[in-house]
Amino acid sequence: MGKKAVIVIDMLNDFVTGTLKCDRAQRIIPPLKRLIESARVNGVPVIYSNDLHYKGVDKELNLWGDHALAGTKGAEVIEELKPAEGDFIIPKRRYSGFFQTDLHLLLRELGVDTLIMTGLHANMCVRHTSADAFYWGYRILIPKDGTEAFTEEDYVGGLDYLAKVYGAEITSVDEIIKEFA
Ligand code: ZN
Repeated sequence: MGKKAVIVIDMLNDFVTGTLKCDRAQRIIPPLKRLIESARVNGVPVIYSNDLHYKGVDKELNLWGDHALAGTKGAEVIEELKPAEGDFIIPKRRYSGFFQTDLHLLLRELGVDTLIMTGLHANMCVRHTSADAFYWGYRILIPKDGTEAFTEEDYVGGLDYLAKVYGAEITSVDEIIKEFA
């Protein structure tokens, strides 16, 4: 078993309660809180992969409208899952947390080879980040109570795709916490 890291994707004000609000995201806040706290206690790195867009510049905004704009409250992690000292925050401007970011270099330096992929959305940023993780050869664990999507169909289809195409192991927060200790 290799070294793990928890990747928390886009649990930002704009995605949970703001302009791109996903009501279903509420369900995953308590389990993610437990997962993140347990990771910190057990020395497992917690890495936030956060949308951070430039207004009037990022093409993605044409599709989705303004969200997670640099310097706004909407671009901050929700209060319940706030980063703590020792956590890492890596901004991204595309769906994938790897694309043109510091993530792969950081994971290499930390000696991480297994990613616990969480956050929003199972069929978009979690999927695209998992695609790059798969290309780089990381093992991917996805707690089913740690990710969500706008609809049940997107959620179920998203998990199914992750398992089938990237070999993601679909598990639960409790199972993952059990293995930390
Ligand atoms: Zn975005």
